Amino acid sequence: MIKRTLGAIAAMCGGTLNNPIFADIGIVGVTKDSRDVRQGQLYIPLVGDHFDGHDFTGSALGGGAAASLWQSDRPVPESLAGSPLVVVEDTLAALQRLASKYRDELAVRVIGITGSNGKTTTKDMVASVLGAVFRVHKTAGNLNNHIGLPLTVLQLDETIDIAVLEMGMSGFGEIELLTTIGKPDIAIITNIGDAHMLQLGSRKGIAKAKLEIVAGLQHGGLLLINGDEPLLADGAVVAQLPSSFEIQTFGLGAGNDWHGGSLTIATTSSTFDVSANGKGDEYGLGHVTIPLPGQHNVTNALAAIAAAARLGVPADRIRQGLQDIQLTGMRIEPMRAYNGAMVLNDAYNANPTAVRAAIDLVGELAGYRRKWLVLGDMLELGPDEVEMHREIGAYITPAKADAVLTYGNLSRHTAAAAAEQFGTGVEPAERESGSIVQSFDDKDILIAWLRSQLQPEDLVLVKGSRGMRMEQVVHALQHD
Ligand code: ATP
Ligand code: MG
Repeated sequence: MIKRTLGAIAAMCGGTLNNPIFADIGIVGVTKDSRDVRQGQLYIPLVGDHFDGHDFTGSALGGGAAASLWQSDRPVPESLAGSPLVVVEDTLAALQRLASKYRDELAVRVIGITGSNGKTTTKDMVASVLGAVFRVHKTAGNLNNHIGLPLTVLQLDETIDIAVLEMGMSGFGEIELLTTIGKPDIAIITNIGDAHMLQLGSRKGIAKAKLEIVAGLQHGGLLLINGDEPLLADGAVVAQLPSSFEIQTFGLGAGNDWHGGSLTIATTSSTFDVSANGKGDEYGLGHVTIPLPGQHNVTNALAAIAAAARLGVPADRIRQGLQDIQLTGMRIEPMRAYNGAMVLNDAYNANPTAVRAAIDLVGELAGYRRKWLVLGDMLELGPDEVEMHREIGAYITPAKADAVLTYGNLSRHTAAAAAEQFGTGVEPAERESGSIVQSFDDKDILIAWLRSQLQPEDLVLVKGSRGMRMEQVVHALQHD
């Protein structure tokens, strides 16, 4: 953060100094964690269901914080009466307001990324591609919510040209809040899936919630949408959007402004040809390689290419940046496993769109003896959760995979539907050849059985919702 006086900060977040003599104190950053406070920072005591940051204000100030916010409904204890405090109605709202005002004062250009799947991946790709030319700061890990985003904005300073901000959500109004803080120059919607169906009612509702990102999009900015998604590319949807910014599409369909063709998908990479139609201009990118498997990653890369082209990054730098992508872990990470097999670690999370993308990927990869899908439950899907698991099972055909192992109560339905596709029934564990569908309640038993079956030339994709902790399967497969 660029240094601001405490007086300026109080004005920015709509608060009042407990004593005007503190107005000239210099603030060099903010933190919400009293254990991690650095000299000269402003401590922001957030209030959660199970904690109250105000309890730690004293230790934050003792640890080097120059001042603290303070929520007005709490009496100031005697011990803090002489310390510099900015009194606000709500510390979270104050953090968001501070970040929004701070953003207005920056020369930084912002790229905001939302979508049901692929936000973090696309964020990492965009940062990698722009990093060749600009000084880039991106959301760390997955800190994409109403707290992580403002904190990320407040990390920006004059050493940064471009900020790449991930914007996540689980209900209406959340992207609107984030985009009006970040005020992107370029907004990207990666795709529309079925995550958070419970809160948003339908895929149309999900599309509407993602499109909230235009609320903060700058005049003259660029909206990049996945043109393969009818809910986004639909003429009626686009016609309803304000005309204060430009719209371009990306995707695999030839009609997109930025599209990828002649795909070759391998276990550790994908290659494709990039063409730019109409608005996108011929950019001369040609053949591109990314060190990631899957059509969905080609789509994500096209979004990154379109953003980079808008900012004038030369084609050779874009190609290099894509080759050098550093991803946040557990997103289809290929790794060598037990007995020479190959594991694709996609244990980070799962929902129907992402699982289908993963199944397609496994289906496309050639040269393996036996292809295994190890699937844990998809959580938080709402009342149709059983049907959605059945649909995933029905999506798995013998052409795409040879074996399906599921873990969890909901995935039992995936197994049952897959067994119908395979014409096998959910088989007993002894079976050692041919198509296999198995459902497990116990992860250790699944692991032990899978280990007994794995051979060199096998491919295992492991995926499930975060709560299913499917990475335990991956780790168990990594050791002899
Ligand atoms: P979160 O909401 O948890 O932050 P995210 O949107 O950031 O998720 P990523 O972490 O980039 O998504 O990717 C998660 C998984 O989603 C990937 O491992 C992959 O299986 C799948 N995925 C990534 N991109 C796409 C895409 N464009 N379409 C469908 N699935 C995708
Ligand atoms: Mg993410």
